[in-house]
Amino acid sequence: MTLTGKNFIAGETSAAGSRTFRGVNPATGEKLPTDFHAATEAEVNRAARAAAEAFSSYRDITPQERAAFLRTVADEIMALGDTLVERCSAESGLPAGRIQGERGRTVGQLRLFADLVEEGSWVDARIDRAQPDREPLPKPDVRSMLRPLGPVGVFGASNFPLAFSVAGGDTASALAAGCPVVAKGHPSHPGTCELIATAIGRAVEKCGLPAGTFSLVQGDSHDSGTWLVEHPAIQAIGFTGSYGGGTALFRAANQREQPIPVYAEMGSTNPVFILPNALRERRDEIAKGLTQSVTLGVGQFCTNPGLVFLPPSGDTDAFTEAVASEFKGVDAAVMLNERIRDAYETGVSRLRGAERVELVGEGAEGNVGYTGRARLFTTSIERYLANTDLEEEVFGPSSVLIGGASREQLLESARRLGGHLTVTLFGTPEDLEAHSDLVSILESKAGRLIVNNFPTGVEVCHAMVHGGPYPATTDSRTTSVGTRAILRFARPVCYQGFPESLLPPALRDDNPLSILRMVDGEYLR
Ligand code: NAP
Repeated sequence: MTLTGKNFIAGETSAAGSRTFRGVNPATGEKLPTDFHAATEAEVNRAARAAAEAFSSYRDITPQERAAFLRTVADEIMALGDTLVERCSAESGLPAGRIQGERGRTVGQLRLFADLVEEGSWVDARIDRAQPDREPLPKPDVRSMLRPLGPVGVFGASNFPLAFSVAGGDTASALAAGCPVVAKGHPSHPGTCELIATAIGRAVEKCGLPAGTFSLVQGDSHDSGTWLVEHPAIQAIGFTGSYGGGTALFRAANQREQPIPVYAEMGSTNPVFILPNALRERRDEIAKGLTQSVTLGVGQFCTNPGLVFLPPSGDTDAFTEAVASEFKGVDAAVMLNERIRDAYETGVSRLRGAERVELVGEGAEGNVGYTGRARLFTTSIERYLANTDLEEEVFGPSSVLIGGASREQLLESARRLGGHLTVTLFGTPEDLEAHSDLVSILESKAGRLIVNNFPTGVEVCHAMVHGGPYPATTDSRTTSVGTRAILRFARPVCYQGFPESLLPPALRDDNPLSILRMVDGEYLR
């Protein structure tokens, strides 16, 4: 399949602008074939208007039709075959095996949302039946359920070119909720974005849906994304990427005449607390696992553990030595793009120059492309508590071990933490019991708390929460992974005194969809 380099707007390709850019192979620094046209403002507006037109019918297709559409998108992505794997690998520097795994995750989450929508109970239908004879006043018939918000703008990240990009979790959950999507392509993998857009476009056509159900606008400057957020038809934003990008879009969305929700997942340092008995009993195993977690995928995961708190015991020095030795055996590998490599080196330089922070372990140096080298730093708990600059994310294969934290200092460190995606505790049952107060502080600091495992690897399932308090995200009440993500793109609507014929099927007396509903305060199917 030949790439066109054009935007994909409501079923048609479009290249109205003269500004072009290319994907770059981060393993070689060479530009890849195909000039991509950055969308003009008129093209972004056209995509947003088409999404608004599509919304009036897409929101009311049956759950079965919506599920069939999501499954068709998954099938069409698989049908792209090696073309997708090869282009995605060339644009991201990620090995083919990793791309295949990520493709599996991407189609898996589309199918999971299809199952959720088909089952139907996610709409949280509630029925309070009328009591005309109630004294002193009659009670009206009141019913409510979740309804789709409207067109959603989606911004994917560079580090998951499939699972957090054009057909990633934000798009899957928005389409599942009944919202058309306008995706802003990531300039780091424009060919991958185009291939995925054509797959979604084919699914739209096959399922007989309005063409504006999905569009892709490309761009390598902030313009196209800003126009998208500012367009009055767009009713919510899903974003994964940098703190700077997420907060800029959040501000733009709040300065609109009609402000809209921005669900931005901006990463975190994912603190790990290793408690005394666990450190003594499992030192080498934790050292090995920590190194793997920090350096997996060249550290380019938003759940990468960047801060590790250690107790004041003789085991701490031995642990530091064990981790440093593991780091020395890590090969350098290609990072996603030049900007991310440069940002990593800037972050590492900041740590190197930080007072009383020491570099204790370094992986092999790379010599081709935009490579990242693993780095391990240490500091003392006193230094950490004196200046919380170390909490800032360094996106890449590095971590800081913080030694000598007494019980009180651990609690103080936990209290001072900002919002994170995850926090992790390694502890024996006795450790955990003795630190229950630590756990209760940490609960207000992260979206996911993990015991005796590493935070990298986010399972896509019903119970997952991939979110957390600011600055990990701009809205701590939600998740961007797992089926709960659908709730971001829906709002409750109440129908009072409605005749049966005007009610949505989910709220009719005979429950034609056979969903779980709350009827007069009791859950019934
Ligand atoms: P990014 O630079 O934030 O870009 C994400 C998307 O947002 C791109 O489409 C980008 O396109 C757009 N964008 C960024 N800033 C914008 C702005 N001010 N206005 C409008 N659109 C904007 O993220 P990235 O390229 O994936 O990675 C860069 C850094 O983000 C990394 O070094 C790392 O620190 C962090 N990161 C975090 C996560 C996470 O999971 N939270 C994942 C990956 C990266 P344009 O550049 O064309 O505007």
